[in-house]
Amino acid sequence: MDGPPPTLAVLLEVDQRLEIYCHNPLCRHEAVMAPAEAVARLGADTSFEAAGRRLVCTKCGEHGRDGRIHCRGSITDYYAYLRRRGGANLKG
Ligand SMILES: [Zn+2]
Repeated sequence: MDGPPPTLAVLLEVDQRLEIYCHNPLCRHEAVMAPAEAVARLGADTSFEAAGRRLVCTKCGEHGRDGRIHCRGSITDYYAYLRRRGGANLKG
């Protein structure tokens, strides 16, 4: 799909937590941030890619600027949002 990359503002729209993954092979820490906290700390206009570059792993200290911290909106929360809206084309 074309268009600008999604920003963290979508987390508030969807009430979706931010899942954060450390890709340091010796760490593999996973964390979750509440939508309001993610937006407050990283900015609503920040893309997910840019947000990952600004995060630091609380377990191993890996810094996102090195490209090994990735984040995304919670898929579970997204499906819950779709169900609340009527669950078009979704089963289960
Ligand atoms: Zn880590």
